[in-house]
Order: sequence, then C-alpha cells, then structure tokens
Amino acid sequence: MPAPLLLLGSAADLPADLPGPPSPAAPLRLTAMARPPTWVRRLTHGSAPHACAEGEELGLMDLALAARASPLFTTRAPVDRYFAALEARWETLAVAGVLAPGVWAWTWHDGTARGPIRPGSVLVCTCRTGQECHLGHLAPFLMRAGWDVRRLRR
Ligand SMILES: [Zn+2]
Repeated sequence: MPAPLLLLGSAADLPADLPGPPSPAAPLRLTAMARPPTWVRRLTHGSAPHACAEGEELGLMDLALAARASPLFTTRAPVDRYFAALEARWETLAVAGVLAPGVWAWTWHDGTARGPIRPGSVLVCTCRTGQECHLGHLAPFLMRAGWDVRRLRR
C-alpha cells in the first residue's frame, strides 16, 4: 500500500472558502501553529497536535521569531535552539509511532481530540515563501513515520 499523502504549506495558499464541518472521510485542513491567527482558524477544520511548539518550546519560538523579524538578524542561535527543541521531541514521537498514519489524531481548535489525520490532509503555517518554517523541519520526521509528504501548491 502506498504511503498516504500529507500536504504541508502556507495558509495563504488555502482556498478562501470556509471549510465547513469535515465530512466523514474527506481530507482535513489543519493548522500546525501554536497560536493560529483567527483567519487561519476560520479556514481550517482544526489542529495537528505535536506539529507545533508546546510547553517550554513556546518561549524558544518567541525568541526565534523575534530574532528572525529583527532588522539586526545577525545570529541564528535562537532559531537553531528552537528547531533543535522541536526536532528532539519529534524524534521521540516518531520512534514511539505517535505520528504514524492511522495513529496521529487531529483536534478541534479547542483541543478536543478527533479521529486520525486523513490521507490528503493539509497542514498549514503562516510563514511566507522563502522563510524557514518549522514544517520544513517536521517533514523528514513525517516521512519516517510513513507519510508521503508533499508541498501544498496554490
Ligand atoms: Zn512556519
């Protein structure tokens, strides 16, 4: 059986129509953001847990985003610390099988658990083209977990 498809991309490339309630087997639109803005929440069915910063990583994310946004962005150190923290956790999750197709579950935006993330679903962030996004760092872990990971194209 071929690996199920999972698309990663920018929320700006989602269709502008609201998704409505998810039908039983249809692909899902999910945020992969710790703090999705309102417009992203409206365009998505829910969230993909584990894909974004959580706990103490939130502070590292804020430092990394501040460094990236600064006109004096002269050191990658905060960015590297942030991605290293995420990757260490994703490694543990990948080894434990938590991110595997059929196992990894999505949630409503309020965190209420739902069923497994469906083949063909899309995970989005709001990074712009050319920005280093955590989804690019997540992709190899998802491939190891058994997903066929592709980039969402408009
Ligand atoms: Zn991003």
